[in-house]
Amino acid sequence: MAQISAVLIFGAPGSGKGTVGAKLAATTALKHLSTGDIFRGIAPSSESGKLLASYSSKGLLVPDEATVEIFGRYVEGLVNTNKLNPAKDTLLLDGIPRTVAQVDLIKPIVDVKHIFVLDIKDEATIVARLLNRAKIEGRKDDADENVIKNRLNVYKESTAKVLEKYDPSIISHITGDNTPDEVFLDVLKAYVDFTKSAK
Ligand code: AMP
Repeated sequence: MAQISAVLIFGAPGSGKGTVGAKLAATTALKHLSTGDIFRGIAPSSESGKLLASYSSKGLLVPDEATVEIFGRYVEGLVNTNKLNPAKDTLLLDGIPRTVAQVDLIKPIVDVKHIFVLDIKDEATIVARLLNRAKIEGRKDDADENVIKNRLNVYKESTAKVLEKYDPSIISHITGDNTPDEVFLDVLKAYVDFTKSAK
């Protein structure tokens, strides 16, 4: 399968990646793909579903090989059903890569062209947002403060290091503490700048 161009929406859990990702995909040609959403779409009674839940319910990362295998198969499925054209489309990846090892493992599948990082200054904002989302979406991993703490630790200890693997010139930092509309506007501006510079 040909490598597919991608931009990443990156940030801690609760930083607004999903919200801004959905808005960006609705207003641009980008195809939003969230590994969390892909994983939650797998039947919980299946072998893969049980494996995924055993990690996600504790706020831990799914092992790298399983993650990239499921992600790769999903992308291949989109290509094989003509929902994704590797020659034309650009993916907006949300939730992958989440470890330094994944940066290399996804290289045969996607070519990362740009990264939008949603920076949140205050951890309390994140915890409040996730607890609120738990009420709206019913996600169990948002409802338990201990699980939230684990996810934030995993972000700081493993996921944040992903950024060191990419050239700083392809990284745009966005203030994630602002209102959803402001965050969307800032990401859209950064995306437009990226598309202009890529020409
Ligand atoms: P999210 O919706 O992005 O917060 O992801 C929910 C959960 O799915 C995470 O807490 C992890 O258990 C798992 N997950 C999602 N993406 C990845 C990834 N790239 N690597 C490992 N685990 C992941």
